[in-house]
Amino acid sequence: MCPGCEIALAAHALTEPPSVQPAHPALADLVDAKHPPGLEPDEPSGDEPLYAARKKVYPQRVTGTFRRIKWAVLLVTLGIYYLLPFVRWDRGLNEPSQAVLIDFATGRFYFFFIEIWPQEVYYLTGLLIIAAMTLFLMNAVAGRIWCGYLCPQTVWTDLFQAIERWTEGDRREHLLRDRQPWTLDRVARAAAKHFLWIMVAWWTGGAWVLYFADAPTLVKNLATFQAPFVAYAFIGMLTFTTYALAGWMREQVCVYMCPWPRIQAALTDEDALNVTYRYDRGEPRASLKKAAALHAHGEAAGDCIDCQQCIHVCPTGIDIRGGPNLGCIQCGLCIDACDAVMAKIGRPARLIGYDTDNNIRARQQGRHASFKIVRPRTLLYAAVILLVGGIMSVTLATRRNDGLSVIHDRNPLFVRLSDGALRNGYAIRILNKTLQPQSYELKVSGLPDAQVEVIGSEGSSGGSPIIYVGADQTREMRVLVTTHAQLGAGSPIPMTFTIVAASGGAGASATDHFIGP
Ligand code: SF4
Ligand code: SF4
Repeated sequence: MCPGCEIALAAHALTEPPSVQPAHPALADLVDAKHPPGLEPDEPSGDEPLYAARKKVYPQRVTGTFRRIKWAVLLVTLGIYYLLPFVRWDRGLNEPSQAVLIDFATGRFYFFFIEIWPQEVYYLTGLLIIAAMTLFLMNAVAGRIWCGYLCPQTVWTDLFQAIERWTEGDRREHLLRDRQPWTLDRVARAAAKHFLWIMVAWWTGGAWVLYFADAPTLVKNLATFQAPFVAYAFIGMLTFTTYALAGWMREQVCVYMCPWPRIQAALTDEDALNVTYRYDRGEPRASLKKAAALHAHGEAAGDCIDCQQCIHVCPTGIDIRGGPNLGCIQCGLCIDACDAVMAKIGRPARLIGYDTDNNIRARQQGRHASFKIVRPRTLLYAAVILLVGGIMSVTLATRRNDGLSVIHDRNPLFVRLSDGALRNGYAIRILNKTLQPQSYELKVSGLPDAQVEVIGSEGSSGGSPIIYVGADQTREMRVLVTTHAQLGAGSPIPMTFTIVAASGGAGASATDHFIGP
């Protein structure tokens, strides 16, 4: 039979009512949906190649609790991502007014009232530790909940799939259309889909660069082609990656590219909530008709009617009834699909649900099922998050507005002057994090008879050099420390460099050594 006739027959079968009415009318759609007519899967021949080509996934639209949660998370996360660069925050004159800004020109990261300098990059380490521990904690509590709801790959793929359903139709319509020859309607739908995908991808790349410069100004410059080339290059690159990852690669990113499923599989335990098919309740699976026949013969039948709705809605195209699967991102959409089926056939919901391995075992053994959220690993992860978060909060709240770092010259380590004195050289960097210019006095302690000279200083006060540093600036200076004291065998001698702002304030200090022969 020619392909055109096959498609015509398939379309006809989809629109015609079944000649034999099933026992439960509400099941007609479900049973038909198992394999849409004309679209039966290929039988395995036994000599398939080792390489398995991708089977395109056509996720079916679904409604329910977890779908609503996913929509809400999508709206909030994308709303934050796209709009945050336009949120303003007043930091004073000559300071950037963008609430969240990574300013490469000055080497600063601004986050509302927090300003991180390059010298404070250890806060980034703290943030990474908190992020990792939060991921571990999420995993210990509810498996790959990050993957299912919050991961950017999931969020953008969800959006792209919504666009696809809107332009090309839901699963069954899209499946049939993909098997048709290219008609004007099919071309128009595909073109609309790719146009919308590229628009979303382009805006995604565009929003990213807005975090690196004043957003309103950059938008104006981009529109008038006056923005730097690197901005256009990054927008182009991110447009391409978003379009490719969310539009084309989708579940393959989760299954083949992302390391987290492998790490997560090693971290999970039997008390973690995971999307689980309750096989103790669902098996042996049987259609309503078959279940009735089994019951008539006094045999047991499970609640699963094998309608495959849980597979059809799955964004990664897997069958959760087969047990834990690397491809399952724990999005909960199969729960919604199965709940709808259970509601239609009048059976209790949550044949698929968030559950633990221990609970299934407990039910099978007739014991009470419960969820233990307080476990050694959840306590450990929470403690590390609180500890690191606490340390970061305290250091941020008590950090000084002045900073000083000192580096001893590597070569020469010391110089003997003609009058017998010893001299060491240092590079110092002074940080003035205040919004006013400051004059600092530099003092050195710990070295007997120390004389301090700063090349290019702005005079001295009581023998201490004065160094001027502009508002919100750093200044690097060269310092020479000379002593006529006899150091003997005590070298190297620990020294403390201290800066004190003329306007008061806590100042700052740093330690180094004076090296002799
Ligand atoms: S688990 Fe639920 S949705 Fe999946 S095949 Fe069984 S009855 Fe259908
Ligand atoms: S099996 Fe269920 S929870 Fe897992 S990815 Fe598919 S729909 Fe989501």
